[in-house]
Order: sequence, then structure tokens, then C-alpha cells
Amino acid sequence: MAKRSVQSRYFSDSYSQARTRFANMALAKGLTVDSYTFKGTGSEGEKLTMDTIEWGDPASDNVLFIVSGTHGVEGFAGSACQLALLDQVDTLALSNCRIVLIHAVNPFGFSFLRRTNENNVDINRNFSALTNLPGTDNTQEHAIIRQLRKTSNGYQMVKLYLMLVWQIINGHRAAMQSLITAGQYGNERDLFFGGTHESASAAFWHELLGKYKSSRLYLMDIHTGLGKHGQAHVLSEAKESSSAYQDNQLYFKDCNLVHTAHDASLSARLTGTLSSQLPEPDNAITLEYGTFGGLTVLGALAIENYHYWHNRNSRQHHRARRHLKAIFNPASPKWQETVLESFWEILARQVQLIHAQHQ
Ligand SMILES: [Zn+2]
Repeated sequence: MAKRSVQSRYFSDSYSQARTRFANMALAKGLTVDSYTFKGTGSEGEKLTMDTIEWGDPASDNVLFIVSGTHGVEGFAGSACQLALLDQVDTLALSNCRIVLIHAVNPFGFSFLRRTNENNVDINRNFSALTNLPGTDNTQEHAIIRQLRKTSNGYQMVKLYLMLVWQIINGHRAAMQSLITAGQYGNERDLFFGGTHESASAAFWHELLGKYKSSRLYLMDIHTGLGKHGQAHVLSEAKESSSAYQDNQLYFKDCNLVHTAHDASLSARLTGTLSSQLPEPDNAITLEYGTFGGLTVLGALAIENYHYWHNRNSRQHHRARRHLKAIFNPASPKWQETVLESFWEILARQVQLIHAQHQ
């Protein structure tokens, strides 16, 4: 019972609650919140902000960014990890390292329970928007992309599954993963639309990186939806020849480590991510918490997206949104407990890795 109440203190029900808790916890710990304010308001009329808190060794050039809500609706787990960390801030001795918590990179998506922002832009594909001009990937559009766009109900979902299964049976699993999730730049209604210009989130990310220009930057970007239920996975884009690759092997080998440069089993190789903008992108890891399996997640995303474009704010749309929240944020105390436990474990290893690189 005690554990359950701890989790409910950290796992919020809405963006509005998460944002308030983050600010209140900072206040209680005597830390300052810097906010980047977005246009518009959230689903409860709240302000939409990306909030940051920094602490640690002020003399150190090593800075670890811990990020939540890059994919809006996935933000609940990351926000809970950040809140739990803030709650323990007095007991953590940080030497030769500073930590910057970045809460809700995509506050619109977090508040309105979408993975993307107000323009349906996937922030973690947006940084290559300028090199993928509209129409460039639209000339030979795959039937599966068209099917994803019209998946509005269970019948259409079964059709989508059958098309995907056929492709997988024929050995095209990795190609399908890349086709669907590596990002689309031709149609604003697509599920992993990377946008056509820099989003406000991307602009704020650049502004933040500018503040830490002379530092050695590390990134831990927290997501949910990929991988086995309740398991944490550490994803890295480091190339096999890099020293970051070796360090990852050393520090994260027991943490379901996946190097996406040569292993597409969990995620396609991505471009245009937050990490791609770091001075040293290999210093980034993505923390992925598995929820309900790839096809279930994809189906829930497609149905919510259909109603967003065709019946916005209808009953079906609200139902699809609530379902999407449940798919990315399992309400089970066990799942939540695992998220927090593995976060502490991976954070400890990440801090050790930073120390070892700069002794
Ligand atoms: Zn994600």
C-alpha cells in the first residue's frame, strides 16, 4: 500500500497536474524553474510550457539533460521519473556533473494526449524537416502509409495488421519499421510527420543548447511504447567504431541495450531527433519503457489520428484519446513501480559513465 501511494504521488493524471507538481516540488527543494512558454493553452485551459530545473556541481562542464514529453502523451512516465528524482535531490551527491531536468518538450501533446504537437509534428523527427522538403517522400507512397491514414476502427485495424503481417512474413520487417516510423515529410496527416519547418519545441531546444554551448552534453530522453511490457530499454545511435559504443556496452549491458545503428529489432534508425542536435550525438540515450506491443500501439495511434483529423472533439475522438493514454501509460502499479526502479538503476549507471569519461 505504501508503494502504491508513492507512485501516485509521482504519476500524474494530466499534463496540468504534472506541470504543477514539477513546479511545487522545485519550490519545496529551493530550486528555480526556467520556463519556455508556448502559444495557446492546454486541454484544461492551463499554460503550455517546457520547464527546466538545474542542480549539481556548478563548476562542472558535464551536463546531463533528462527529458520528458518529447512525444506528448508518452510524458507521464518521464514526468514521474523527474518528480521522483527531484524528491530525492537532497540525498544525491553529484560531483563533476550537473543535471538539467527538461519537463514536457511537447506540452501540447502531453496536455491533449497526442504524440505530436498542434501541427501534428513529431518533435523527434522535426530536426530533419528542412532537408526533407514537402513532397520528397510522397512520390512512391506505400499502400501501408495510405492504410494507416484511413484506419478508423477495428475492421480497418485488422486490415492494417494483415498487410503488415504479410510484409513481415516476406522478410520486410525492418523495411516496414523504417517506412512507418522513420518519419514522413509529405503529408501533414501522417502518424510520424516530421513537419516542414522548425517547431516551437525545436526552437526552444536550440535555445537551451545555446545556453550550454561550452559544456559536454549528455542526454537521457524518456519515452514509452516500444519493447516488452514493463521493461526498460536503453537505445543508442552510437556507431560500433565509437568509444560511446564501448562505454554503453560496459555500463548498460544489463539494461536491454539496443544499438539502433546495426540492430533494428526495436526501433528504426532515426534522423532529426533531439539527440542529433547535440555537439556529440553519441552521448545520448533513449530510455524506452515497453507497454503493449508494436501493433497495438500503432493501431491506437492510427485510430486517434483518424478521429483527430475527421471528427475532432467528437465522442469517438475522446474515447480514442483516452485509449491512447492508457496504451502509452499503463495504469498498473506494477508497471509504474518498474518504471521508477529501472530509472534509478539506469541513471546511476549514466552518472558513473560520465564520471569515468572525465576523471
Ligand atoms: Zn516516443
